[in-house]
Amino acid sequence: MRIPTSPFSAGGEVTALNPATAEPVAAVRLAGLAETDAAIERAHRAFPAWREVAPAARARLLRNFAAVVDEHLEELARLEVANAGHTIGNARWEAGNVRDVLTYYSAAPERHFGRQIPVSGGLDVTFHEPLGVVGIIVPWNFPMPIAGWGFAPALAAGNTVVLKPAELTPLTAMRLGELAHEAGLPEGVFTVIPGKGSVVGERFVTNPLVRKVCFTGSTEVGKGIMRGCADQVKRVTLELGGKSANIVFADADLERAAASAPGGAFDNAGQDCCARSRILVEHTVFERFLDLLRPAVEGFRVADPTLPDTEMGPLISARQRDSVTAHLDGADVAITGRTVGDSEGFWLAPRVVLPRGVQDPVWRHELFGPVVAVMPFTDEADAIAKANDTEYGLSGSIFTRDIGRALRVARGVESGNLSVNSHSSVRYWTPFGGFKQSGLGRELGPDAPDSFSEVKNVFIATDN
Ligand code: NAD
Repeated sequence: MRIPTSPFSAGGEVTALNPATAEPVAAVRLAGLAETDAAIERAHRAFPAWREVAPAARARLLRNFAAVVDEHLEELARLEVANAGHTIGNARWEAGNVRDVLTYYSAAPERHFGRQIPVSGGLDVTFHEPLGVVGIIVPWNFPMPIAGWGFAPALAAGNTVVLKPAELTPLTAMRLGELAHEAGLPEGVFTVIPGKGSVVGERFVTNPLVRKVCFTGSTEVGKGIMRGCADQVKRVTLELGGKSANIVFADADLERAAASAPGGAFDNAGQDCCARSRILVEHTVFERFLDLLRPAVEGFRVADPTLPDTEMGPLISARQRDSVTAHLDGADVAITGRTVGDSEGFWLAPRVVLPRGVQDPVWRHELFGPVVAVMPFTDEADAIAKANDTEYGLSGSIFTRDIGRALRVARGVESGNLSVNSHSSVRYWTPFGGFKQSGLGRELGPDAPDSFSEVKNVFIATDN
């Protein structure tokens, strides 16, 4: 496995650990403040030439980048298994997602057109102008996809990009930075800067050469970034936390709903902002649903993430495991899944808990771990009210055979991404983002390049 190297050093060093074993994978040198400013300055200097690259040529460079990622798919996936503890199946999907997102947005440079608007006395046209340098701040839970959802449309729209990976998981992003160079992206167009949030991340907010910050992470840090961006009226996209509801009606295919619920809650060890970490079950089938849920949770394969049929690996760190475990103290645990016994890694068995009411922290807090809370509801209105009784609004699921009800409830739940009889949240060609404190703006889908550009209106008089 090739370990990427950092050209920076002034910000000290972190040791990337393998979460499955707690053993070191690599030492990573971090950027300091002056190095960050210098990298932003290089991205700023690269911008005029990059925005002038002909649309077809920029498209070709992004397709090259996608092809190089594809050639290194297995390498990237194995690096992610080692650094983030993701299952090999998930990690392959994640590396493939970077390739697909690059391919999808490689079609944008030739299609990101403006409008011609009828006016008297001339011609009125709009242009999408790139912003300049875009700063992307990535969390540790999905290091590759979240990076790609930012850099691919930003580059396609003609911006240059500086990207800061999370301290715990910098390796795949650093490798993607190397691969971009190999694919022929000019110097300074895409720079990965490993570093601390308080140094590199904050500098993206305060350095005026960065014209937009695209942040994914905790709601608390996101709020600080939004406050900081206000000083310069800097553009900002936020993808933050979630506490999404999986609503199961009595008329649903209960076997299917119960069989899929662990995947909806425990995928990536529950460290997923879209995790369906609250299950609402119609009261008439509550006991039956729990009976069906038990074998699904107990059979959820928690094992060595390098094995192809593993469904859940370890948590990212001892700290994350301890924070989730603290919420289990005194909780009413109804079902406990499997775990890996004899390992130094950051393992935790999946749990199904019965909250003591809607104020119970296991029902309200985003735990970001393999814990799902189950509660009954009385009718459709009660289900919608309970689902919406949260500051978050990222995703959610509705299980029912009644199409009218599915649509009514989907419209009633205050959430950006809903799925009916499924837990699917993310397709790169459909929009993704949150209501309420789950975020601001949307990523992915056909409109993503718009959020990396400004609309300029030009009127040309013809009556001279
Ligand atoms: P975090 O907010 O601590 O860190 C996220 C990133 O921000 C990291 O790269 C970190 O270094 C950086 N950062 C930290 N402090 C900063 C600061 N003051 N200024 C600038 N950057 C700073 O979150 P985390 O612990 O890495 O990730 C877990 C959280 O992220 C969860 O709450 C989860 O719900 C959320 N999340 C949301 C989404 C989404 O798409 N909505 C996706 C992934 C994670």
